[in-house]
Amino acid sequence: MTRTPARLQAFYSTEMVSDSGRGASPSDHKPRDVAEALGLTSWPVELVPPQPSTLDDLCRVHDPSFVVDVLELRRASGFGTTSPSVARSLPYTCGSFYCAAVSALREGICASLSSGFHHAGPKGARGFCTFNGLMVATARLLATGQARKVAIVDCDYHYGDGTQAILESLSLQEQVLHETFGLTYKRPEQAEGYLSHMRSLRSKLAAFKPDLVLYQAGADTHVDDPLGGLLTTEQMRERDRIMFSVARELSLPLAWNLAGGYQVEPDGTIPKVVQLHLNTFEEALKVWQLL
Ligand SMILES: [Zn+2]
Repeated sequence: MTRTPARLQAFYSTEMVSDSGRGASPSDHKPRDVAEALGLTSWPVELVPPQPSTLDDLCRVHDPSFVVDVLELRRASGFGTTSPSVARSLPYTCGSFYCAAVSALREGICASLSSGFHHAGPKGARGFCTFNGLMVATARLLATGQARKVAIVDCDYHYGDGTQAILESLSLQEQVLHETFGLTYKRPEQAEGYLSHMRSLRSKLAAFKPDLVLYQAGADTHVDDPLGGLLTTEQMRERDRIMFSVARELSLPLAWNLAGGYQVEPDGTIPKVVQLHLNTFEEALKVWQLL
């Protein structure tokens, strides 16, 4: 597991891209934006199409009537609309993260160009999140015996309330360590405390001994984000560097995803958000000595 893979895999396909019909969050088109930006680099990143999550996968953590109502457009997604393209994309965004988790178990490190998970609870969508891909992946890994314990390190700016609610509804608190920074850290004055907390994950993860780490590398944690506002660009690189280094040094497989990021330009493009996500890729590649 500690061997270095020849390249970093990132699970992505155009089926993960949608049009929510609402401009409040750019996460519907973000997978494509990041994939295109990665394609302009010379980095050893391989884009791999994911298998979609099945109805059974989604219903393992969500109320079946909620899942079916969203997929059949009788109920709004986390974007607050009933866009057919969003509904079609959801099994692929969740599947992307599960595929990344499985690949990480084999390769040590893997990415998923997905967002929109951690506010989704057992019975409902909220805050641009419809189905909780973190928990869809976790529950399937636990149910199939691919993992006995999983650590979720959620560094999106916001509190992973949906993840916590699902953990409690399924009584998985002993099998899943849930570190959600959005519960505690909100302001730039807390940046040093935030990074100290990141460093403390080494002993916490060493004691918990998960089979896998799922890392939400949210870009809305950036100090300039209109829905966030906490870490500078260099502090975010440090955050990522600590996470990847701790996982590698403890020989813990790690899969990460994009999560939030809302610095949208007047024309609807998101170059600042994309660059923050690229920085995360760069830090991962450096820690894994692929650059
Ligand atoms: Zn967020």
